[in-house]
Amino acid sequence: MHRIRSVGRGAAAALALLGGLAAVGVLASPAQTQEVVVYSARHYGQEPAFEAFTRKTGIQIRMLNGGTGELFERLKAEGDRTPADVLLTVDAGNLWNAARSGLLQKMDSPELQANIPAHLRDPEMRWVGLTVRVRAIVYDTRRVKAAELSTYEALGDPKWKGRLCLRTSGYVYTQSLIATMIKRHGEARTAEIVRGWTANQPVIINSDTKILEAIAAGRCDVGLTNHYYLARLLAKDPAFPVAPFWANQATTGTHVNISGAGVTAHAKHRAQAIKLLEFLSSPEAQQMFADVSFEYPANPQAGVNPIVARWGRFTQDDANVAAAGEFQAAATRLADRVGYK
Ligand code: FE
Repeated sequence: MHRIRSVGRGAAAALALLGGLAAVGVLASPAQTQEVVVYSARHYGQEPAFEAFTRKTGIQIRMLNGGTGELFERLKAEGDRTPADVLLTVDAGNLWNAARSGLLQKMDSPELQANIPAHLRDPEMRWVGLTVRVRAIVYDTRRVKAAELSTYEALGDPKWKGRLCLRTSGYVYTQSLIATMIKRHGEARTAEIVRGWTANQPVIINSDTKILEAIAAGRCDVGLTNHYYLARLLAKDPAFPVAPFWANQATTGTHVNISGAGVTAHAKHRAQAIKLLEFLSSPEAQQMFADVSFEYPANPQAGVNPIVARWGRFTQDDANVAAAGEFQAAATRLADRVGYK
């Protein structure tokens, strides 16, 4: 009881220091209330599942939102005084970095291991994926036929010269794709592939949504974006003239990344935190994530949003998503070397 009270005060102090960070869903914290404090760099889609968890267990969730970098710095600065029990963020590279920095602890949970496929979680169980995002080849349905597309590598074919839109190389989605290619193909082959893209003089755009809009506006014919940005645009305008193509189906499978979570190294409510993650990995909660955010559930038992379901099934690259972290620095160096801006 004393510990819970002191955590409440710690969190209140943390809130006072937050400055630019927004606090969402902060509840009064009576001493008897069981709670989990979540630091979240994931900004949408989890609320219905959090509310269902509280209804089911009586455990309250207090959440602090911030950017990944801000929350990392915060956790490091707070050390063992942190009120945070759970770190929730996007991209396996970020979770890998958090684990490597000692911010997360190993979770002993057969339930999590059963619910989340092995390639979508840390081999040492310091973080697990909760949702899956696909790096899709996206194309203009008026000017490109699906049969013209095949792999990420083939976007270096000269036929796409001046027709390709890519995200900047410095953005984590691009870094994770290149990092996974390094794991799959080695540095030399990956450098050749990325050199092929740059030789096609791609239009570099720093937003997935803007890439999709550029394709619709005729500025380019093909691009690479996360699938849920396209789903959002199609939810607003079913006639939006862009479709996804699942890359590398005959070879390595299409590149996927995750949003996910882990229990912090100094969690004060460790058991409740693991209980929360177990619930979030259940088909019931996974369906809620998928419905709201258009992401794919990490748990294959859960269904997908109808807009996404229309795109059919595909094979994921089953290389562990930890590659996004392991080869992130190598991916950045490689992009620089071949002149991918
Ligand atoms: Fe995103």
